[in-house]
Amino acid sequence: MSIALTRLPPMAAQPHSTRTEEYAAAGRNARGEWRPDYPVRYAPVFQWPLRVKAFLKWLFGWPGYLWPLSSVVFAFAAITWFFFQPSMERCATFAPGWIAQIWVRNLAIMWIFYGSLHYYLHIRKGEGLKKKYDANWPATNSRVFLFRDQVYDNIFWTCGVGGIVWSGYEVVTMWLYANHFIPWLEWARHPVWFVTLFLLIPIWREFHFYVVHRLIHWKPLYKHVHYLHHKNINPNTWSGMAMHPVELVLYISVVLIHWVVPSHPLHFLYNLQHTTLTPGAGHHGFEGPIANGKVPTGSYFHYLHHRYFECNYGEATIPLDRWFGTFRDGLPEGEGAKLAEEHKD
Ligand SMILES: [Zn+2]
Ligand SMILES: [Zn+2]
Repeated sequence: MSIALTRLPPMAAQPHSTRTEEYAAAGRNARGEWRPDYPVRYAPVFQWPLRVKAFLKWLFGWPGYLWPLSSVVFAFAAITWFFFQPSMERCATFAPGWIAQIWVRNLAIMWIFYGSLHYYLHIRKGEGLKKKYDANWPATNSRVFLFRDQVYDNIFWTCGVGGIVWSGYEVVTMWLYANHFIPWLEWARHPVWFVTLFLLIPIWREFHFYVVHRLIHWKPLYKHVHYLHHKNINPNTWSGMAMHPVELVLYISVVLIHWVVPSHPLHFLYNLQHTTLTPGAGHHGFEGPIANGKVPTGSYFHYLHHRYFECNYGEATIPLDRWFGTFRDGLPEGEGAKLAEEHKD
């Protein structure tokens, strides 16, 4: 906790009484935070006895494991593979043309996904402050961030540096696939495993994220690497991959599993784009559903990590935080409420 406390950026000016009254009228606490009056819950997966009905509802329901988020990412990956991927023949030899194609296309994907969320929530302010966890908009004129601007800083790391690391993993892996240096799974020969692998990828991602995240909270790594992501106590869409290059390399290393486990390049692209796109949806700072209540999105689970630092390292499917005693459900007197000292204004 001490590390985090020493790295707090300056808070906005203390709210005066009028502002406090406005907060109270909007259902916010004195600090301006909006909190759900229900706890963060784990998906009904790793529970015994398994509640079959709840499990099926979670798997196939809306919102659930399959949609909308994972199916949107799958659509991005499929469109990428069928329409915008350099041919495997070209990928067999490193050359600027196809490498640039992958990089530019990935930036386009990123701007479509992150850009549309950011435009709707933070520029057009389509939801206003409704169910926005933090009452403040992203910081401007702040010495904490590059260019003195939180959004520009976040875009630099997420898109500028993150886009390069993302594309780097893809270029090397496509070269490996093209040269048959790594195993290639055929749909026609293993259809059941082909589909199963898609279903397992988000679970694998969550496990890998937890392990890497715990590692970078180790004091020396936190101090030199992970601190950068945690400047965003009030995250926005572009905070998603606002990470130090070392963290980006560790975070996206989730795709290295395809170098060992037989898979199709479409599995790899799905895993990669799940890793690089979903942080936009997990950091925008709003409790969904948004867009007239039609689009479920947001992660209070991960917002609590940005708010309190020493809790909720994973996500809400595999109860790793509960098993290791770091789960916080977000209610003032709820599970994990006394885990760590809260940040002081
Ligand atoms: Zn985060
Ligand atoms: Zn962290």
